[in-house]
Amino acid sequence: MLANVIAATGVAAAACAAGYQTMSPTGQWYGQTFVGVPRGTPQIALTYDDGPNDPHTLRLLEVLNKHNVHATFFLIGKYLEIRPDLARAVVNAGHAIGNHSFSHPNLIFASASRTREELDRCSQILRDTSGMESSLFRPPFGGRHPGTLKIARSLGLKPIMWRVTGYDWRQKPSQYIEHKIRAQLRGGDVILLHDGSHLVFGADRAQTVIATDHLIPWCKTQGFEFVTIPEMIERAIPGKQLPVLSRA
Ligand SMILES: [Zn+2]
Repeated sequence: MLANVIAATGVAAAACAAGYQTMSPTGQWYGQTFVGVPRGTPQIALTYDDGPNDPHTLRLLEVLNKHNVHATFFLIGKYLEIRPDLARAVVNAGHAIGNHSFSHPNLIFASASRTREELDRCSQILRDTSGMESSLFRPPFGGRHPGTLKIARSLGLKPIMWRVTGYDWRQKPSQYIEHKIRAQLRGGDVILLHDGSHLVFGADRAQTVIATDHLIPWCKTQGFEFVTIPEMIERAIPGKQLPVLSRA
């Protein structure tokens, strides 16, 4: 009886851990994803999900330009259809872009064919709107399982997760976002923020823009250096330039 209870507890714990791994940004059980370079490395990478978005993507571009910093944007296909000009603005300003699916479903619950369609369709629109071929992919909600990653890789996409988050979807003031990020930064980190929302086009991301404006100078005084995800990956494997981002 006791053995059964212990065995059952073990199974429950394993099931829980497996469930956690499907959404955990740094979990590696379900296949390797990129979360950053070793802690203590001066390089850090700002990433923005769920755009393009009006007007906050353009406001963010102004802030990043003011501080001479390049970031990485994971774009939603259906929003790219609404405002392809914003994707071109992001690319023309020298930022990196990546695939964040066409309609932002949680891919844990999606069939293989739906997953393939979501990723393929977004890549196609990215190519058509920006003229760029990106091999970066961020799963919506960070959700993935082994099949998701296998499909992504078969499409030439590299899954990019994160180690630091600003929790900016909680709709708190910029100080909250700034505090969350400052508290987690160790160097070598990929930072998750949002210039849009998967719920609606036109979502208010003013606090994220303000937080970015405040965080960049603070990070620079701490000795951190901002890089894009492709730059971070290249530096992670010295001498080996990965074909992360190339002209379509
Ligand atoms: Zn998202």
